[in-house]
Amino acid sequence: VQFGADTTEESVDRAHRFIEWLTGDKGYARDRIRVAKSKQEGGTSEHLWAIREGGLGSTAFPPDGKDHWPGWEDSAVPPDRLGEYVRKLREVMDRHGIKGAMYGHFGQGCIHCRLSFDLRTADGLATYRAFIEDAADLVVALGGSVSGEHGDGQQRGELLEKQYGPELVQAMREFKAVWDPQAKMNPGKVVDPYRMDENLKLGTDYNPPRIPLKFAYPEDGGDFAHATLRCVGIGKCRVPRAETTMCPSYQVTREEKHTTRGRARLLYEMLKGDVITDGWQSKEVKEALDLCLACKGCTNDCPVNVDMPTYKAEFLHHHFKSARRWRPRYAYAFGFIDRTARIASRIPELANIATQTPGLSRLAKLAAGIDRRRPLPRFAPMTLQDWFARRGGTANPTGRPVVLFPDTFNNHFHTQVGVACVEAIEAAGWRVIMPEQHICCGRPLYDYGFLDTAERYLRRVLDVLRPELRAGTPVVGMEPSCLAVFKDELPKLLPHDDDAKRLTRNAYHFAEFFQTFGIRPPALDGKALLWGHCHQRATGGMSPDRQLLEDMGLEVNDLQGGCCGLAGSWGFESGKYEISLDCGEQALLPAVRDAEDDCVVVADGFSCKTQIEDAGTGRRALHVAEVMKLARDLRGRSPHAVPGRPERNGPSRPTPPWRERALRVSAAALLGAAVTALGVRAARH
Ligand code: SF4
Ligand code: SF4
Repeated sequence: VQFGADTTEESVDRAHRFIEWLTGDKGYARDRIRVAKSKQEGGTSEHLWAIREGGLGSTAFPPDGKDHWPGWEDSAVPPDRLGEYVRKLREVMDRHGIKGAMYGHFGQGCIHCRLSFDLRTADGLATYRAFIEDAADLVVALGGSVSGEHGDGQQRGELLEKQYGPELVQAMREFKAVWDPQAKMNPGKVVDPYRMDENLKLGTDYNPPRIPLKFAYPEDGGDFAHATLRCVGIGKCRVPRAETTMCPSYQVTREEKHTTRGRARLLYEMLKGDVITDGWQSKEVKEALDLCLACKGCTNDCPVNVDMPTYKAEFLHHHFKSARRWRPRYAYAFGFIDRTARIASRIPELANIATQTPGLSRLAKLAAGIDRRRPLPRFAPMTLQDWFARRGGTANPTGRPVVLFPDTFNNHFHTQVGVACVEAIEAAGWRVIMPEQHICCGRPLYDYGFLDTAERYLRRVLDVLRPELRAGTPVVGMEPSCLAVFKDELPKLLPHDDDAKRLTRNAYHFAEFFQTFGIRPPALDGKALLWGHCHQRATGGMSPDRQLLEDMGLEVNDLQGGCCGLAGSWGFESGKYEISLDCGEQALLPAVRDAEDDCVVVADGFSCKTQIEDAGTGRRALHVAEVMKLARDLRGRSPHAVPGRPERNGPSRPTPPWRERALRVSAAALLGAAVTALGVRAARH
């Protein structure tokens, strides 16, 4: 029960009088009553409101597997008759064999509920109609209204004669006819309404085609069509401010087709086949999905967990199945970046000449379909795996084992992060195991629908890690989006593989590993601005990172809302530069610009860090492991104990001896010259 009043004191006083009434007149034990204070008063009552706001989602798809639908979701009666109404409504539900939970605004007598209507069979539709008519009779008899706070729409238009009587509805009809004699304005509502059981999303003719799928959709009984019905339409994904991650594309474009809801609706229409008639080949659906960043915001923030990144990957897989249909160039460039990076890292100096020299880099971007304004990432002088092997493996051969997954981004680009991760884990006494082979979770492949290849990559990961998985060794990720594959995509793609289940159960984001195993981090004084990668927010959240930094002694500002806008390779794709930066401007980039000089900017995601640098904020974000290294180097002193921004004192990438680098560049130059000479000679002949 919430109490409102003109002043805080008055509302608290009312609450206490209510408690006295409950414990005195009603005989409730005091320990059965909890008083929740609002956030402004240092309380946590917003957690209770989160439960209330989750009402719709949790009543839509209850665990018994039977879907609950709207239809009688907004009735209201005078508040003093609410008890009587609820009891009698339950009787009506029982009479028709209908189930459902109720919630709402009891102080105003308004009840919300979704009920277990069967909207796919003729019998079910007859029951639906009979129930709604009985419920409407009940509400009218109690002096209430069939719609409490929302509109009548088509669903309850037919009931208005019960509520207002035929004479008043006729008056409305005549009034409307004066202004709209040809009944062109919003026909079928209020007067001469459509029937409540026509134009339904489902109905007796609902039978969308089902094709073999790549993902398992366990929450939807393995049915993609059911997944497209998941959206309950309340539009939490249409919030224009970046309060949650969902939905960054709408936060920028403000267009319905770029909301999670709009995309879900288009996928539904695609399967239904009435409006969109070319099914999985639809260009309209592809266009709407193109601006989906696959950030996973909806999988966490939407009340019914609409999983648009999975639907997008599934769609692209089928859309591009035909050998005659090619994906955009950037799909190949980024989807297989693990392979390109593997080749480039043999002579990274040459690769960097191609990607960093003006003119050459322009050509490289053109070939790869990358926006010309995006700087290309620089390859590290040596890979993390190479560094680890050269130092002779782990420094703690007798410690407790943990697998550190060498993702493409920290293995080939941000190797200083990888080194910091190894050292942070070893400083805690653990033995780091790093696979020596080429290994990749396939993260970028999902974004472009290369799902057969992604599955092969995952099977290889399982092959390589199998002994450790079966031994129960924890697997730690440095890059949140790669680790998220093991928590999210893996069980959906290989739902019946026990080793996959072992990996999902034993996979930890970097800070999560430290928190789970109770490892104390080194001390560091000062302030930190923490930015969570969207995939991490959706697969475990940022509390472990915040807690770890606080345990170190830092004062943490845990920034919420929106996406950095780079979202893997999405912001690199040609045509997405502006919108990518606009996404970042919703929350992250202004906060980084405003951060004080001695504040450590912390971000674990490769894309988030890249966006912070590319957007010209003048700051470089550090991975949590780099912050821990900074702490060990500074031995607990504040970062402002040393001059300059904290990142200036962050670790740098490991480098092989200069002789080795000179040798391999010379060898490559000689090889290039020889190939050119042979080419010229062949051309002459
Ligand atoms: S997709 Fe949007 S409208 Fe649909 S249920 Fe989720 S938040 Fe609500
Ligand atoms: S994945 Fe992100 S961008 Fe795509 S629909 Fe969900 S919230 Fe929106």
